[in-house]
Amino acid sequence: MGIGDDTAARRLRLLATEFTTPARRGSAEVAAARPAHPSAPLNLGIIDHMRAAVAEVVGQVRETAPDAGPRPEDDTAVYAWWRDGTAHLDDDAQQAREAIIYRQSLEHAIAMGDHDVIRPNLCPGCGCVGLMWDRLRRHVACVNRYCVDDLGLARTWTLAQVAHHHVGQKMLKKSAT
Ligand SMILES: [Zn+2]
Repeated sequence: MGIGDDTAARRLRLLATEFTTPARRGSAEVAAARPAHPSAPLNLGIIDHMRAAVAEVVGQVRETAPDAGPRPEDDTAVYAWWRDGTAHLDDDAQQAREAIIYRQSLEHAIAMGDHDVIRPNLCPGCGCVGLMWDRLRRHVACVNRYCVDDLGLARTWTLAQVAHHHVGQKMLKKSAT
């Protein structure tokens, strides 16, 4: 998962094709649940998740790239649309955009029940590999026993914090080469 890759778009497409039935546009009610396994969330939750994700990107494009042109009809094309519209902006703006896209990519995987996507990310606190998704509290926790807060509890992170850190590291590497 590098910078500018299409993982978020691919996962969004996977959510639409594998985790919901082919619903007619705008009629979420008729989409019957087809969970991948018994503990998978209901597909109405997936549809809400997808709508919220796309709406967030559309809102970001309106704000950061008002001249980006009309929204693509294909929802999974919104990430490319955003990148195209903001390619001329400075590094900070590119980094902020990529952090949101990367966070959404993680959110899409978690919505599919794939929690393993968290593990390869480095902890923003200790820099170690050892992050886990806490599905009940819906946050990321570090399993390094030395990575604790003032109360001695495992440090926890939001997906946005993990994504911001991940993208920041990638940008540093990129600028160092
Ligand atoms: Zn840590």
